Amino acid sequence: MDIEKYIQSLPAYKRKKYGVTKECPYCKEEFITSYKKLNYCSKACSNPQNRAGDPNKVAPWNKGHKKSAEHLATMNTEGLKKGHGWQKKPEYKEAAKRAAKMHSERMKGSNNPNWEGKQNNLRPKAPVDNEWNKYKKEVRKVTYRSVYQMKKEGLVPDGVGKYKGMLQLDHIISKRQGYEQNIDPWIIGHRNNLRYVSSQVNREKWHTFQTEEVVKEITNELQRPRARSLQQPT
Ligand SMILES: [Zn+2]
Repeated sequence: MDIEKYIQSLPAYKRKKYGVTKECPYCKEEFITSYKKLNYCSKACSNPQNRAGDPNKVAPWNKGHKKSAEHLATMNTEGLKKGHGWQKKPEYKEAAKRAAKMHSERMKGSNNPNWEGKQNNLRPKAPVDNEWNKYKKEVRKVTYRSVYQMKKEGLVPDGVGKYKGMLQLDHIISKRQGYEQNIDPWIIGHRNNLRYVSSQVNREKWHTFQTEEVVKEITNELQRPRARSLQQPT
């Protein structure tokens, strides 16, 4: 989470405590206080037994508890020499081997006839014989890809939906125009040709064509990259 956003969301009395820039008393570096970092910049700095380069530093699992010689003398360590019983029983060893084999089979898919999923959805797909439908399908594919990228970059506004007053995705040059003027579907679905408008505007303009200047402006800048397989080695 963004720390500044987090601090903004806090009530005023907590903001006095958190989000303040302080100097770490150990490493002398500046840091911003938060719930888990109040006095020191990190866990390592706050714990004397965990500080890098500190002679008192101990392994994290031990936490510095050193057993005295007296304590060690009272401990019964005979059992440790023998090892744990469940590790020694032959039937458990067998079971462990079987489990490992099963796991490896599961991971490699050697026992799964449909590992690559090629047996799924073998239903014949309806052929697209209509040119217009084919064009729309291409545009839809590219549009989904563009929107996915825009979502990743946070360019999709809030309030997108299908109800009245919500925003809708709109192709500036419409699909119909692109189809009739032989524009590459890649351009129609490109993010330069996409915008979010209210459903009202979208409904009013659905049958209108863009002027030549607008089309030029959008199409001139764009050049469809060649498919990877077609690219010449450089
Ligand atoms: Zn520090």
